[in-house]
Amino acid sequence: MKYALVTGGSRGIGRAVCVKLAQMGYHIIINYVSNATEAQKTLELVRQAGQDGEILMFDVSNRQQTSKAIESWENAHPEEYIEVLVNNAGIRRDNLLIFMPENDWHRVLSISLDGFYNVTQPLLQSMLARKFGRVINMASVSGVKGMPGQTNYSAAKGAIIAATKALAQEVARKNVTVNAVAPGFIRTDMVEGLDEDTLKKTIPANRFGTPEEVAELVGFLVSPNAGYITGNVISINGGLYT
Ligand code: NAP
Repeated sequence: MKYALVTGGSRGIGRAVCVKLAQMGYHIIINYVSNATEAQKTLELVRQAGQDGEILMFDVSNRQQTSKAIESWENAHPEEYIEVLVNNAGIRRDNLLIFMPENDWHRVLSISLDGFYNVTQPLLQSMLARKFGRVINMASVSGVKGMPGQTNYSAAKGAIIAATKALAQEVARKNVTVNAVAPGFIRTDMVEGLDEDTLKKTIPANRFGTPEEVAELVGFLVSPNAGYITGNVISINGGLYT
């Protein structure tokens, strides 16, 4: 059995990635933090795709909780390892920096960046030992370009991009690839409340993307055909920023 862990797999892009990886034959470990009902729905979709999965609740920003959850999974599966990790969990708390509360700064950074460390670090050892692994980090156009009103989010995603490039060089020799995906506007709960009609005029493709389109890209990066792509940031944004 081949295992893939998707953080923030309960909704949006993470859910679509879970379904795509299930279609590719992976047993899916669906992480979420608060929305058990939606995580359960993702599990049902994974099963409809012909694979099984399981739900693993932990807050990626909490080192202890994350380590405990991963340890308990590893103890229950002594012969197996998680060969695909999609660091997808993320939130946004937009504000101009001048008005930004300290908590909104730290929370956004912590879920993206501490989350990357907390989940990736314990899983790397098995990937290196087995000489195969795929790490995909969900960045954003904000981390590539910088977006006003999103200094916290842009900083978090920019840091993830730099971490992707650094880690890729550490582990490439062991056949472990590390890449980032940088979506533009994708229709999920995260963009609820944004004025889609106005914003889509700024996008050459004249529409928001879908979670399934992002999942296709993740699926390709996970596939054996993408084995020579590492340390890259691949944009998927309808031409919004190149
Ligand atoms: P979403 O629909 O709001 O879903 C966010 C997911 O992250 C949920 O599954 C949520 O779990 C999980 N999550 C949040 N905090 C967590 C934590 N502390 N620990 C574990 N899981 C946590 O968001 P989305 O639009 O699919 O975004 C997914 C990723 O793509 C994010 O990293 C986001 O920054 C990035 N992205 C999105 C867009 C876009 O336009 N949508 C564009 C660029 C990048 P619960 O269900 O339990 O809350």
